[in-house]
Amino acid sequence: MRPSNLADDTPLRRQYLNLKRQHPDTILFFRLGDFYETFDEDAKLVARELQITLTSRPMARGERVPMAGVPHHAVEHYLARLMAKGYRVAMAEQLGEPGSKMMEREVLRVLTPGTVVEPGLLEATHNTYLLALVSADGRYGLAYIDASTGQFAATELGDAAALVRELHRVGPAECLVLGEQLEALAPLLGDVPLSTADAWMFEPGGCRDTLLRQLEAASLEAFGLGDLPLATRAAGGVLHYLGHTRHLAGEKLPISELRTYRAEGFLTLDQYSRRNLEILRTTTGEVKGSLLSVVDATCTPMGGRLLRQWLAAPLLDLAELEARQEHVAAFVDNGLMGGEVADLLRRMPDLERLAARCTQGLASPRDLVALAASLELLPAVRTALAAAPERLAQLAAALRDFPEVVGLVRGALRDEPPATLTDGGVIRPGFSPELDGLLAGASDAKAGIAGLEVTERERTGIRNLRVGYNRVFGYYIEVSNGNLAQVPADYQRKQTLAGGERFVTPRLKEYESIVLTAEERRVALETEMFERLRAEVAGWAPTMRNVAQALAYVDVVRGLAHVAVTRHYCRPTLDLGDALDVVEGRHPVIELALPPGVFVPNDCHLRNDGCQMMLLTGPNMAGKSTYLRQVALIVLLAQIGSFVPAASAHVGLVDRVFTRVGAQDDLASGQSTFMVEMVETSLILQSSTPRSLIILDEVGRGTSTFDGLAIAQAVVEYIHNHPACGAKTLFATHYHELTALEAELPRVHNFRMDVLEEKGQVVFLRKVVPGGADRSYGIYVAKLAGAPRSVIRRAEELLATLEAASPGAPNGHARHPAHQLALFSPAESFRDELEDLDLQNMTPLQALNALQGLQLRYGRAR
Ligand code: ADP
Ligand code: MG
Repeated sequence: MRPSNLADDTPLRRQYLNLKRQHPDTILFFRLGDFYETFDEDAKLVARELQITLTSRPMARGERVPMAGVPHHAVEHYLARLMAKGYRVAMAEQLGEPGSKMMEREVLRVLTPGTVVEPGLLEATHNTYLLALVSADGRYGLAYIDASTGQFAATELGDAAALVRELHRVGPAECLVLGEQLEALAPLLGDVPLSTADAWMFEPGGCRDTLLRQLEAASLEAFGLGDLPLATRAAGGVLHYLGHTRHLAGEKLPISELRTYRAEGFLTLDQYSRRNLEILRTTTGEVKGSLLSVVDATCTPMGGRLLRQWLAAPLLDLAELEARQEHVAAFVDNGLMGGEVADLLRRMPDLERLAARCTQGLASPRDLVALAASLELLPAVRTALAAAPERLAQLAAALRDFPEVVGLVRGALRDEPPATLTDGGVIRPGFSPELDGLLAGASDAKAGIAGLEVTERERTGIRNLRVGYNRVFGYYIEVSNGNLAQVPADYQRKQTLAGGERFVTPRLKEYESIVLTAEERRVALETEMFERLRAEVAGWAPTMRNVAQALAYVDVVRGLAHVAVTRHYCRPTLDLGDALDVVEGRHPVIELALPPGVFVPNDCHLRNDGCQMMLLTGPNMAGKSTYLRQVALIVLLAQIGSFVPAASAHVGLVDRVFTRVGAQDDLASGQSTFMVEMVETSLILQSSTPRSLIILDEVGRGTSTFDGLAIAQAVVEYIHNHPACGAKTLFATHYHELTALEAELPRVHNFRMDVLEEKGQVVFLRKVVPGGADRSYGIYVAKLAGAPRSVIRRAEELLATLEAASPGAPNGHARHPAHQLALFSPAESFRDELEDLDLQNMTPLQALNALQGLQLRYGRAR
């Protein structure tokens, strides 16, 4: 950085540096005419991140500073990209009239990824959460807000693992922590953009006061915060920070409610399981191909957001789940009603965010008209719901009317008002006598001006005399050069043109002043009336928000019903027992990726005291992973209240779902190390309960065969034998040796993916059948994958050699109890040596020699 010599700086530069000093941790967008400019390091960063040109500008004597700017009309697009990358932007706006010597500038808002409410910066079906976190004595207080909808929730968590799970459930866009706790908390927060709070923001007394004021309450007990001091601080902190970034322009926060909750009230899912099961997005980060993508038939943005919330937090509450099921069922049984409601909902704008925009004072005239239009649809929605009067009565009742709001908006605003207030024309004629009088006066004056052309032509005898208007000189009478002699004495010259002269008369000036003042006054009056209207509508915002949520709920259950009907899902029986029974279950995503009818359904029956663990073997590509995941997804769907892809299902509610995938199956995560796999697995073993469902897919694969096998076996034994665990488990493995465990562990049952072997060909039947596979068919899959014939042939020879080299494998197949495995180290070292051969860099002769060496050392005695 150059040393800043204030004396040399231009006044503009001084103003910039001053603002930048007040917002050091942001990119400062400095409004200069039609552009927002950035300077110095900000400019370099912005140029790089947004791929825009880096220029420079003289800002001090003999000195140019780097500059990069974006046009103000396209600024949201650029801001959205910076927010997505986790940056913070301070917007310095011009105040006062343009044209005066030096514009005043002030930062009116600071945009951060978690506090944006501008429609262009939000995704319709995503919540944008700002989350605050405080820790003390190993406990954590957490609160989050969606400032665009007013959703506000807080909780406390007793340990770091629970905190990390909760962070992954909420998925905040930005996380706020105290500066002094940053270092301790940052490792838990992953790659969420972090902001540091000033100490005062989390100060307990201030937090209480701010919460009480914002919630207009006398005590925090009513919100469940009574004995949650850390949650109270987090909730206060999040409000303070939001106010700090958004209050600058005097904006009100659209928050009138706070929900405290317990994370244990939801089905526990850690981040690995969320990722493995591809609930909201696939392992590669896309929505397409996720569970969400196949069950999302919502028609409104608020419905889309609610469905995400449901899928992120499956329930444990039987009564609530049955209520949801009943609502879904009502739509399943009334297809016509579903269609009708969907048609109405498709016409609904984002009522929840519109209501919040009223409170924030950001709603435009068009926003208010859209709001009224959607409120007008409510009676029709209610009427449609009356097709299932008993089951949906409660929902219909929640959709109350807002005749007052509709009346206010329709009475005051035109049906299709302009987007902004600046040009007038927003207020409906007949609404304000004052405005109407003003406009009538103006229109009389305009008529008078128009009439002047005729009367003045008559008076002066100038046939081509013309009355006109231009922005700089206002109204004028134009006379061509040839007729100047006839111009009367009361004409005052105003402007000389090439072909003539322009004049005004006292009369014309009088009219003009009426027209111009009327226009100015009109905009002022309309703005005033509009703002009053918006404030009045804002009074209903909390109630409208409740209705928006009821609509979201209707949208979600209707969408789930639509999915259930079109894809033949069934209503699962739910209870608090320990059974998990799925008859003809399907994988909701994979079945759609295949042609209709191709997916092969499979059953699953698990009990704590019966078949507690299915040990599933079978060749690669047989469908093991698909089967495991489909069972987990069916449980998740059942526990959001949805129907499930099966002929019938019985789900004893599950408290946790764990999934772990062997390292090699998990390449997409980029951290496919054996270590990660083991960390994840030990976490399961420590935290599962008899009510949990564990999905283990090829665990132990990330290490050499015998280690992996030993670990896999130990895990199976632990789950089976440990009294605190005892979870229902699906275990897919290519270690067919593990099937021997069935004989020793009574609640472990062998299953395999059935295949048909015909003349060296393997046909996958995709059917789960009792019994264990005796080999893995890896070579066959290599053949399928197009490996050269010679490689396949050679591999077959080698396999035969290997199997023959294993003592106790008389018929060439390893059929030994798993605990004898340690005896087979010769085969292991053979395999290692074989794998270590660098075939790419060997001559054929070297390869032949190496082979011979192997044969000598490991081959049968000849
Ligand atoms: P594995 O885990 O045994 O290697 P996967 O579960 O990955 O096998 O399945 C491989 C492929 O087989 C899937 O991508 C899918 O196309 C197909 N598949 C799996 N299960 C079924 C099924 N039940 N019906 C039809 N096709 C299936
Ligand atoms: Mg697999």
